[in-house]
Amino acid sequence: MSKRVVLVTGGTGLVGSGIQAVLSDPEVKAHHDNDEFIFLGSKDCDLRDMAVCEALFEIYHPTHVIHLAAFVGGLFINMAKPVEFYNDNLTMNNNIIQCSHKFGVEKLVSCLSTCIFPDKTTYPIDETMVHNGPPHSSNFAYAHAKRMIDVANKAYNQEYGCKFTSVIPTNIYGPHDNYHLQNSHVIPGLIHKFYNAKKNGTDMTVMGTGAPLRQFIYSEDLAKLFLWTLRDYDSVEPIILSVGEEEEVSIKDVVMAIAEAMEFKGQITFDTTKADGQFKKTASNAKLRTYLPDFKFIDIKAGIKKSVDWFVANYDIARK
Ligand code: NAP
Ligand code: GDP
Repeated sequence: MSKRVVLVTGGTGLVGSGIQAVLSDPEVKAHHDNDEFIFLGSKDCDLRDMAVCEALFEIYHPTHVIHLAAFVGGLFINMAKPVEFYNDNLTMNNNIIQCSHKFGVEKLVSCLSTCIFPDKTTYPIDETMVHNGPPHSSNFAYAHAKRMIDVANKAYNQEYGCKFTSVIPTNIYGPHDNYHLQNSHVIPGLIHKFYNAKKNGTDMTVMGTGAPLRQFIYSEDLAKLFLWTLRDYDSVEPIILSVGEEEEVSIKDVVMAIAEAMEFKGQITFDTTKADGQFKKTASNAKLRTYLPDFKFIDIKAGIKKSVDWFVANYDIARK
């Protein structure tokens, strides 16, 4: 087999670091002995700039692209910065898709999210429902920008026969996340806040009611599934990469698991004046299970323990 050059945009982030980590597992590596991976972050290139993107493709000549780079964040920054979520993501995604076509990339796998699905829907959500109605108002700009990846993938396939596809992960967590106190997703945000509260001997106030439900996937589980998609998933239609519906947990469950992993002994209260976001976005992994019936996901409590331990051990270098 000829050598494959795999360009991973957003390769320094949560998911990109997960892919780097699982490639050191001999079982995973065995599938990629012939592949050269290039992991790029925003310090290497600003993918919002088409000239920069074209230069990248000219330098590396990727045969395959995993497109992770995005303007990413939790509920509160999504509500505060809809313009950046819309513009940055739409521009980066269009640049990568156009360059992948222009430079003859054999396969492009981009990343959607379960938060792009319609707010008013039936459950469980599946891959056929991406465009069925407006997304939740808290992240409408990010959601619409992401949905356009699926539109572009289908357009490029119809007109040029391109093999461009996308995956739909649920909420992701793990080492190397963004632990910013205001802008991050719920798990890394709470890990950082519990860490500070423990260090300062203060109580913890959690934003929202704790009632919303989420499916969380550990970054290294997602990384293995991303690599499987790159190798073996041949459809242009998106595929949900998620734990099962029975693994859905409440934000309160997550709070308690983080407190336990952190050995936090103070009081925990919920500030119900703060936003809850979408109540749930329960997704079906039935399609994934038709391909990989035996794939084992790490249990959420074990994953949270690993994530807390990573943050404590790497506090000085963690993104925050
Ligand atoms: P992340 O940790 O925030 O990483 C984002 C990556 O994108 C970083 O490598 C960052 O580089 C890079 N990046 C940002 N802006 C860029 C720019 N203008 N030019 C070039 N690179 C840029 O995000 P993640 O959680 O790994 O997300 C990966 C993908 O999963 C994204 O497409 C996201 O939408 C999707 N997703 C995430 C979640 C979740 O819960 N995290 C859930 C569903 C889907 P620097 O680190 O150098 O800034
Ligand atoms: P979402 O799944 O897209 O809504 O994204 P998040 O990861 O931001 O999770 C939001 C949910 O967690 C909401 O119900 C918030 O009220 C709750 N939450 C509690 N504490 C925090 C926090 O410190 N940061 C974030 N982002 N959400 C929090």
